[in-house]
Amino acid sequence: MRGGELVEALRMRALPEGSDDHGALVEFLKLYRDVLQLVVNKLWSLNEVPSIKTLHGMFYSELRKLGFRAHHVKQVYTYAKAVVRACKKSGGRKPVLRRLTARVDRYDYKLDLESRMLVLKIHNGREVKLRLLTSTERIEKYKKWSNYELAVKVVEDEVYVAVYFRRAVEPRRTRTIMTIDVNFDNATLAVFALSGELLKLKRFKTPLKRMLTHRIWIERIQRRYSKSWRFIRGVRRAIRRHGERIRSIAWDYVHKIGDSIAELTSRYSSIVVLENLNKLRSNVNRSNSFNKKLSLWFYRRMQFTISYEALERGLAVRYVNPGKTSSTCPRCGSRLKSNGGRVLKCTKCGFTGDRDVIACINLFYRYSRCGVLGVTLNAPKPDENPSGMRGNEDEAMKSTDINLHQS
Ligand SMILES: [Zn+2]
Repeated sequence: MRGGELVEALRMRALPEGSDDHGALVEFLKLYRDVLQLVVNKLWSLNEVPSIKTLHGMFYSELRKLGFRAHHVKQVYTYAKAVVRACKKSGGRKPVLRRLTARVDRYDYKLDLESRMLVLKIHNGREVKLRLLTSTERIEKYKKWSNYELAVKVVEDEVYVAVYFRRAVEPRRTRTIMTIDVNFDNATLAVFALSGELLKLKRFKTPLKRMLTHRIWIERIQRRYSKSWRFIRGVRRAIRRHGERIRSIAWDYVHKIGDSIAELTSRYSSIVVLENLNKLRSNVNRSNSFNKKLSLWFYRRMQFTISYEALERGLAVRYVNPGKTSSTCPRCGSRLKSNGGRVLKCTKCGFTGDRDVIACINLFYRYSRCGVLGVTLNAPKPDENPSGMRGNEDEAMKSTDINLHQS
């Protein structure tokens, strides 16, 4: 999602209209996959991923001879580059493409939402007609959006299409900065004036503990029937039910909290500052801990919902490095020590505060210090004790006028 622009995919099943349309589409997708593999192989053997222009010189005439249209070829380069990049980044082996899927540029299809018909221009000047299986209600929303690309795939003889729509959003003037810290037990939100004054503090309890109880049940069942649980229908069903509960608890919560946060961002006209989860991801994916995976999945859902709702209202979303936001003293930068419960204390300057509130303050500093605001914000000096930052966690939570910038 870029600033000022919303992008959404409309995914649906499709039925080929003509008798040989299905066969032609599969032929196209096979050819597309083989050609994509060819470009991927070449890219893989090179030390550096070349520019689109270089790729054009290397492959264009060859691929056109196979019957591809100009924009098909362009899509193949872009796709191949993305595949190779992602694979090299994660340290994987050379990708072997098996799935029948292609990205199609808007020059290579005609979409009529009203009649739900899609005409794809495939190789050798052929066209394939697809009837889109979706409801009028789902389409209604996108009538005022523009579409620029689609993905088509065939899985077990079924055709699926995802059309990418975009819509410009009128950017709104932002008056405040909202930082959100999500952790296992709760999500804490703080709204700051551009001057650094804390305007609002709110804490939402997360249902992760409730989700974990269901997980514990699953594990218990699996232990009791350690050898047989896969083969007994009733046991499998019980496990599935707990899994469904976990998902529905998460979805309910994410929607509910997404709505209330969106309402606040709108009321305060906030820029939303979130943690950049990509930094956390690499560690977590390697660990097997269910807790970690569940919370990361949950953070992502939360972030997606929050950022989407904000962007839809014309408000910007920014990501900052999350490293040590809940263990660094916001006043002097030293490491904080636990002072019992959720309260943290700085051994160097004596600063004390609630863990989540501290995280929100640090996110605010990280964002504002990048100079994005055009105002230089000074961190409080070590010898000063900003009002409201002293004392116990209740004080920090209740206070609505913590002045962070007494310089
Ligand atoms: Zn300190």
